Amino acid sequence: MSNSKSPFRIIIIGGGASGSLVATHLLRQARRPLQIILIERQSEVGRGVAYGTRCLQHFLNVPAGRMSVFPDEPDHFLRWLHLNHGRPGVPEKIEPSAFVPRFLYGHYIRDTLADARAKAAPHVGLAEIRADAIDLEETPDELIVHSSDGRLFHGDRVVLAVGNLPGSYPIPKPLPVYRDPRYVHTPWNAAALDGIGPDDEVLLVGQGLTAADFIVQLAERGHRGTIHALSRHGIRPHAHRADVGTWSIPANPPIPPTTRAWVRFIREEIARASSQGVDWRAVVDAVRPHAQKVWQSLSWDERARFMRHVRPFWEAHRHRLAPVTAKLIEQLASEGRVVFYAGRLQVLEADSQGVQALLRHRGSLRHQALRVAKVINCTGPRTDYSKYQHPLFIHLLARGLIDHDPLALGISALPNGEVLRYRGESTARIFTLGAPMKGVLWESTAIPEIRQQAPELAKLLLSSTAAAQPPATMSTNS
Ligand SMILES: Cc1cc2nc3c(=O)[nH]c(=O)nc-3n(C[C@H](O)[C@H](O)[C@H](O)COP(=O)(O)OP(=O)(O)OC[C@H]3O[C@@H](n4cnc5c(N)ncnc54)[C@H](O)[C@@H]3O)c2cc1C
Repeated sequence: MSNSKSPFRIIIIGGGASGSLVATHLLRQARRPLQIILIERQSEVGRGVAYGTRCLQHFLNVPAGRMSVFPDEPDHFLRWLHLNHGRPGVPEKIEPSAFVPRFLYGHYIRDTLADARAKAAPHVGLAEIRADAIDLEETPDELIVHSSDGRLFHGDRVVLAVGNLPGSYPIPKPLPVYRDPRYVHTPWNAAALDGIGPDDEVLLVGQGLTAADFIVQLAERGHRGTIHALSRHGIRPHAHRADVGTWSIPANPPIPPTTRAWVRFIREEIARASSQGVDWRAVVDAVRPHAQKVWQSLSWDERARFMRHVRPFWEAHRHRLAPVTAKLIEQLASEGRVVFYAGRLQVLEADSQGVQALLRHRGSLRHQALRVAKVINCTGPRTDYSKYQHPLFIHLLARGLIDHDPLALGISALPNGEVLRYRGESTARIFTLGAPMKGVLWESTAIPEIRQQAPELAKLLLSSTAAAQPPATMSTNS
């Protein structure tokens, strides 16, 4: 246990955007001895799944002017871009409306963390640890994180910044094809496209932003074969557009807490905006900051209703494609090089010729067989942490340290990120943010939300050190 002479210890599991931003804010805010241990299994912190791509054609899906990691310094990312002018991927003309490569954004997060580290108060330190955290043990005095290489990390608080999980299996059965190298289950890895010849056909299961990434990447490699992209509803993300106008909605709109009332409210706002020449995109962007509050006002039954009936539409309108990406995909679709389907996969089998897929078209009995060289699972991150077979989650569940929310959208927690035990009270020492908070907040997975959560969580974590620790200037050993 830390005492008045040793620093308070905060362990962050996961060094993607969420974990790196909590560390950044801890470094900026801490005035007392503090040791931050940031555990990340990948080689670089700051990237996570979204910003780990090396493809410079994978763009942020939010314009640069809205991607500062500091809500109170909206130009911070633009200033970073100016400082890095000339670096591959930085646009010639840096404008708030520019869409820049996600790879650059990973650099930005890393640089921001490094800057905070360099300017931190004395006795406030950060250790970056490359390890896979596989267990978290709770004793009366401390928390102990175990890594797969046998190391133990002792802390007073732990933040689960574990981010996005790989998607679900396209057919929820233990199929032999899932062990075949021609099926890629976790798409965010550099080897996903290995073995695809220029004329091979490919099946993408999913039509969202991950599928868009692959279409762009295949095109960049000169791939000429047909890309088939399948999703249950056949709903694809819309594109961003410049000059959509601006729209605002009242801070506390008087709306009954039902999903139906919300949808009606949004539709009416869009109609009003449209009559004034404002695009629906401006309305969706105006609604988004209220989404967490609205979600929390809905009962779980209403949230379930939202998930059943509204979610695919909300996501297609809210998570939009960079215009250049949308244009390329439309062009490939018009040439027949990308074919979109709405339906369900019924069969997936690998043989010596490739992978055979049988899909049933939505709303009909019509089946269609495809033979492809590779199948890539682009179904988007799953949310049910209790079914994810990683030792960390298996141990957290077995120890009763986490539970899932009633819809299994994430980890059960209070709105401030305090993790709740299995059917029980707050752990008070274990916290989370980002994707695991989806059940609690709904909108919680992207930078506009994470950059709000990170400083608030840092403040909450440091408020517990205030009671335990003297100011840094009084410390003699750390
Ligand atoms: C393909 C894609 C594109 C996106 N594009 C955008 C965008 O343009 N704009 C936007 O705002 N949002 C975007 N997002 C949303 C994105 O999820 C967030 O912006 C943000 O990157 C989430 O960061 P995170 O740290 O919460 O999660 P993650 O990025 O998933 O990072 C979690 C990290 O934790 C590590 N980790 C997990 N478990 C362990 C463990 N047991 N031990 C050690 N390390 C562990 C992982 O290796 C990973 O690095 C995108 C998401 C995806 C998937």
